[in-house]
Amino acid sequence: MSLSEAGARRLSRYLLICALGVLTLGFFAIGLAARPGDGAELRLALSWYVVHQLQSPLLLPLLIATAMATTALFVVMLPAQRAFRRAKQRGALPEQTSSAFEPQDVAREARGMLEPWLSESTDPTRLADALFGTLVDIGGSRLRLVGGSPRVAIELSAAMERHRVGELSQASYRRLLDHLRELLGLARDGAGWIEFHGRPDASEGLRIAIDSDEQSATVLIESSRLRPFAWPLTEQGLPAARLTPLAAALSHNKGVVVLAGADLDLMVLGYAIAHHFHATRPGSRIVSLERDVPLALPYVDQHVVGRADPGRVCRSLIDRGPDLMLMRGIGGDSLLRELDDCAKKRLVVFCMRGRLERTARRASAHFTNLSAFIWRRSLRRLCDRCRTTVAAPALSDEFARRGVTVSAWYEAQGCQACRGRGFHGFTAIYANAADSEDASDLYRQCAVLLEQGVVSAAEVKSALGELR
Ligand SMILES: [Zn+2]
Repeated sequence: MSLSEAGARRLSRYLLICALGVLTLGFFAIGLAARPGDGAELRLALSWYVVHQLQSPLLLPLLIATAMATTALFVVMLPAQRAFRRAKQRGALPEQTSSAFEPQDVAREARGMLEPWLSESTDPTRLADALFGTLVDIGGSRLRLVGGSPRVAIELSAAMERHRVGELSQASYRRLLDHLRELLGLARDGAGWIEFHGRPDASEGLRIAIDSDEQSATVLIESSRLRPFAWPLTEQGLPAARLTPLAAALSHNKGVVVLAGADLDLMVLGYAIAHHFHATRPGSRIVSLERDVPLALPYVDQHVVGRADPGRVCRSLIDRGPDLMLMRGIGGDSLLRELDDCAKKRLVVFCMRGRLERTARRASAHFTNLSAFIWRRSLRRLCDRCRTTVAAPALSDEFARRGVTVSAWYEAQGCQACRGRGFHGFTAIYANAADSEDASDLYRQCAVLLEQGVVSAAEVKSALGELR
């Protein structure tokens, strides 16, 4: 049987494609099988073998084949990446991992955006707009400008890290302050704050605050959508006594830390613990399994459980050998057993929704390796512009029965600054157990907040109603 010239060409093309396919598959297999550390070792071994052992006529064809396979791999990856992106947009991927942005990249981007507006000659209106726009566009949580020094630093808080993103001369800063005070309706050297919302009922908005004393003035520009989630653990308002068991659990690097409360409280505290872990143990691996990812954390390998079996996803995450596992919004008895077992060797932060007594009971029933239990309840802060003292309500009797006296009670009617709601932002109370000592302690925590006019009696009543 003879082969025509065209047939031979076709055959050689098919053979070449097959060879490239096999080589490409080999590269994929090596890439999939090797962990990052192994990959480096494998490359070293290969290059050593080629240079010192492979003194044969095979060397040149092998190098050519490798170069061709690499080219083929590049060509194959282009449509593969396009298909992957399309599937991701459709939501067809089984689990979603966080975008790989780094806080340093965000800071660099912010520097680039602010740069053109920081010169002496810039109109303060334009500078203010640039500051607001930068914060919103890059999804940062806070910009902070502190006066007092010859050059005023502009600091950006994003993804729980703080970066210097620019500086202003004293003259520019004074002009900016004058403009912002005009915007806030303040007198010269006055202090105060204002909050803007895109829609009247939207929780996301921009808060601008000026804190002033004789020498220096601080300007805070905060994006209120991200504000509560962007606080590090040290800014969570955790009393020292509540931090002790948590600090012990974190330092032992193993055991289960149960966070209990409502969704928002669990997220705030869980993310803050992940941040603390990342900041104090550089290079450690943190993975999370969550029902949703409201805020992408660059140092956490975040996974959404979706419709997959949480137990199976959890097992595959444990197999990756993380140092800290954060589980939020998922459950199931078999999963809890698995996590308890996993906590013998590593740290697990498990979030449990619910009231104090019930969650404390569930936590001690399910986890033999329980090393800390923290229940958190957010309380709405009274607006400090329109709050006034009121007569002691019926709730004061309940406090008296616990041996806790409250000397002043406050309410807020609502004003323009709080858009008639009478409250603004949150504070929190904490418990470590559901025993009577802890209940009395919660009453004492509330008494301090009530006397300082931070919270109202009605808010405290509804929080204490969640103890059992
Ligand atoms: Zn008010």
